[in-house]
Amino acid sequence: MSRTQASVLGLIALACAHFARAKIDERDFDAAGVIERDVAIIGGGAAGTYAAVRLREDLNTSIIVIEPKNWLGGHVDTHVAPETNTTLEYGVQSYMQYGPTVALFERFGVEFGSFTSRRLATLNVDVETGKTLDYTAPALNDTTEGLERWLQFVEKYDSLVEPGFWNFPSPDKIPAEFLMPFGEFARKQKIEAAVPRIVTISGVGVGDLRILSTLQVVQAFGLAVTKGVVEGTFIQPKVSNSLLYQRAYELLTDDIRLGSTIQETERDPTGVRIIIQSENDQVKTLIKARKVLWTPYPSQGNLKPFDQDAKELQVFEPWTPEWDYVGVASIPCIPENTSVQYMPRAVEPSDHLAIRDHPYFLTLGTTGPPGLHLFRVMLGANFSVTHEEAKAMVTSSVQKLVEAGTVNHTGHCEVDIKALSAHNGVLWPRGSEALEQGFVQELYSLQGHRSTWWTGRSWCEEYSSNVWAFTETVVERLLKSL
Ligand SMILES: Cc1cc2nc3c(=O)[nH]c(=O)nc-3n(C[C@H](O)[C@H](O)[C@H](O)COP(=O)(O)OP(=O)(O)OC[C@H]3O[C@@H](n4cnc5c(N)ncnc54)[C@H](O)[C@@H]3O)c2cc1C
Repeated sequence: MSRTQASVLGLIALACAHFARAKIDERDFDAAGVIERDVAIIGGGAAGTYAAVRLREDLNTSIIVIEPKNWLGGHVDTHVAPETNTTLEYGVQSYMQYGPTVALFERFGVEFGSFTSRRLATLNVDVETGKTLDYTAPALNDTTEGLERWLQFVEKYDSLVEPGFWNFPSPDKIPAEFLMPFGEFARKQKIEAAVPRIVTISGVGVGDLRILSTLQVVQAFGLAVTKGVVEGTFIQPKVSNSLLYQRAYELLTDDIRLGSTIQETERDPTGVRIIIQSENDQVKTLIKARKVLWTPYPSQGNLKPFDQDAKELQVFEPWTPEWDYVGVASIPCIPENTSVQYMPRAVEPSDHLAIRDHPYFLTLGTTGPPGLHLFRVMLGANFSVTHEEAKAMVTSSVQKLVEAGTVNHTGHCEVDIKALSAHNGVLWPRGSEALEQGFVQELYSLQGHRSTWWTGRSWCEEYSSNVWAFTETVVERLLKSL
C-alpha cells in the first residue's frame, strides 16, 4: 500500500470513528444544567479574556468562558514574596504598546509605566557541567546593529503576518527569506549578534535554532516586539500583571466557569454542544452555543475531548511540543544581581547561533527584593518534563555550579522553589517543508469550520499585544458568521 493510500484509509477510519461516537443526550441534564450562549470561549488567558470582554460588553453577544485553572490570565504568573509583600512577575513580564493594549489597560483602570529590566551581571555556564564558559557575548553596538537589520526585514513583510496570517501568500509566492533555515538567514543578513537577545526574550529554538524556518523566528520575534526592544517602549502595569485579569473576572463573573474542563464535544455547521465538568463539585453542565472560540494551544492532549475531524487532525497532528516552566526560587548560593545562563559548550568562543544547541535551556535571574536571594527561573525543553522533573532539573543545575566552583559555596545549596508553573505549548511543524505544502492556508481554512473559530498565540505572533490584535480580527469574522 502506498503512503497516500495508507493516509487516505487512515483519514476514512478517523472519520468513521468520529461519526460512530455516541451523541450527547440533552435529556441527561436538568434545566439548570444547560447553558445556552452565542459563543463558548475555551480558555481564559489573554485571548479568551479579551474576546469575552469584546463580545459581551461591546458586541451584544452572549458568551461563556471555560477555564481549567481557578483564575484568568494564562501565562501571567504573579508571586508575592511574603517577607516584604513584594510583587514578582515570573510569567508574562511586560507589554508592547501595540494593537489594543493601551486601550485595554485604560478600560480596566490598570495604571502602567515604562518597563525597565534589572541590570544583572551575566554568568554564562556550561549546561552540562556548570563551569564558566569561555564565551564572549556580542558587544552592545553589534547587538543593536543586528536588531536594526532584523527590524528592517520584519518591517518589510509585516503585512503578511500581522495581525495574523490571513494575508499570507500561497506557497509559490512565499518570500524566499521566510523559507530559509534561520541559521543561513542570520549569517547572510549579518544578524548573529542579535541572536542572543532574540532567543532570551522569545525562548525560540530549543534544540537547534538554525534549522527553524526564518518565518518561525518571525512568529516568535516579529515587528512589534523588535520595535519594543529597539525603541525601549515596553510597558508594565504598576500594581501587577494579574490586575487586568482580576478586574475582567469581576466584570464577567457570571459568564466564567473557572476550574472547569471539557469532557465531550459535538461540533457541526449548525452549532456546538460541550459537556464541561467542574473540578470543585464534579457537576456536569451542557453548553449549547452557536459558535465556539478555541484559545489554548492546540496540542493533541488539549484537543482530545474536542472531537477533531480528519481535516483538523491533519493540520494539528504534526506540530512540535515544547515544555516550558517559569518560577521563583530562593537560591542562597548564587550572588544577588546575577543572571545565570546555562548554555551548550558549542557557543565557545562566540558562536551565537549555537546558543540553543542543547535539548533544554535554563536561566536564573535575580528578581529582588534585596537580601532574599530570589531568582526567576526559566526552563525550556524539547523533551517531556514533568513538574517534579522541572524542580529536580533546577536543583541539580544549581548544584552543578557549586561542584564546578563557579559559585563560592561549600556543600549542598538549599534551593527552595517558591512557585513554578508550566507553560507548555506546541509549535508549527519545523522547517520550511510544511510551509511549502500550504500549511498556513490549511491552518487558516479551519477558521469557521464546524462552527469553530480559533485564536491564541499558536495562530499569530506570540506576545499578548499581538494575540489581542489578532483576536480582534477573529471576533470580527466570527460575528459575521453568527
Ligand atoms: C513564560 C512566558 C512568558 C511570556 N512573557 C510575555 C511577555 O512578557 N509579554 C508578552 O506580551 N507575551 C509574553 N508571553 C507570550 C504569551 O504567550 C502571550 O502573552 C499570551 O499569554 C498568549 O495568550 P493565549 O490566550 O494564546 O494563551 P494563554 O494566555 O496561555 O491562555 C490560554 C488559556 O487556556 C487555558 N487552557 C489550557 N488548556 C485548556 C483546555 N484544554 N481547555 C480549556 N482551557 C485550557 C489555560 O489555562 C489558559 O488560561 C509569554 C509566554 C510565556 C510562556
